[in-house]
Amino acid sequence: MLAQQLIEWYRASHRQLPWRETSNPYEIWVSEIMLQQTQVATVLPYYQRFLAAYPTIQALAEASLDEVLKKWEGLGYYARARNLHKAAKKVIEVHQGIFPTAFEDILDLPGIGQSTAGAISTFAIRKPYPILDGNVKRVLSRLKGIDQPIQEPIVLEQLWQASQSLLPQDVQDAYDFNQALMELGATLCMPKKPLCLQCPWQETCQAFLQHRQDEIPVKQPPKKTPHYTIGVGVIWKENDVLIALRPEAGLLGGLWEFPGGKCRDNESLKACVQREVEEETGLKVTVGAKITSVKHAYTHFKITLHAFDCRYVSGTPEPKASQKLKWVGLDEIDQYAFPKANKTVLEAIKLNKGQQLTLC
Ligand code: SF4
Repeated sequence: MLAQQLIEWYRASHRQLPWRETSNPYEIWVSEIMLQQTQVATVLPYYQRFLAAYPTIQALAEASLDEVLKKWEGLGYYARARNLHKAAKKVIEVHQGIFPTAFEDILDLPGIGQSTAGAISTFAIRKPYPILDGNVKRVLSRLKGIDQPIQEPIVLEQLWQASQSLLPQDVQDAYDFNQALMELGATLCMPKKPLCLQCPWQETCQAFLQHRQDEIPVKQPPKKTPHYTIGVGVIWKENDVLIALRPEAGLLGGLWEFPGGKCRDNESLKACVQREVEEETGLKVTVGAKITSVKHAYTHFKITLHAFDCRYVSGTPEPKASQKLKWVGLDEIDQYAFPKANKTVLEAIKLNKGQQLTLC
């Protein structure tokens, strides 16, 4: 009954999206990875560009990680791109280039968790499996009126059971039901001000009936997010600047950046830049004027990044904290993928250069 109500609502009113028009497992897989923690409107242009560049698993596996990260630039959560690339190679090596059809094999690919494997299996392989992404957790916890924090293992267990028990076993119904759960979370059952009066589940939804939509899902009080002050050097040697390739493992792995790091207590920003540059590259530089300051929030911490113009004085670049260092001209720097805060610094550098040329 509940499943049928949702399926009927979905069939009558869902959005046309390119990954709903294909049965190609590779295309559905790419969409599911891009949609993790990212809204449809943001994903759409990336999805189309990515598939135009890498139309097959083979094409993705043969591309360099650098190129793949460049295509992903701006979409965030870069581990997704690294894992997608790694998984494409694994499909070539282990599954002879054919996307696996067994649930356990799908789950075994890098970057694919239980919910993503369930979605790919239902949508691409046409084997019904339950899903539980962030939107679905919100919808089901409201439907069931769960008043414990949704991060609790016991609550997650309850939500998985709800997702499983509601899931129809008919292949097409299961496809539409899982799509509908995601659609409901994205279009009506939003975190704030859900549009309950248009919802096919309003007569059953406990949160709606108890007027507790604002309280459910219950979240644990947020931990205090640490803040770091970062100093980076834009080091000039004639017309080239020095960029560093971050280690592949870890945050923003495989992306390029300007060398720098965390300021110590009571250290001036310029002293921090001078020290960090020397520690990370072995270069002596003079630190000049500030170019710009950028605030940025990551999942578990926030930064304020201060970028300074630096002049190369002496030394040979040694990648002490990166995979490699490279001198590049501004005319070629756009080939490299940078994280968002560094991208803002780059835009400021280009603007400064443009203004200098105008003044000349
Ligand atoms: S009735 Fe409201 S709170 Fe309940 S599932 Fe529908 S949109 Fe969400």
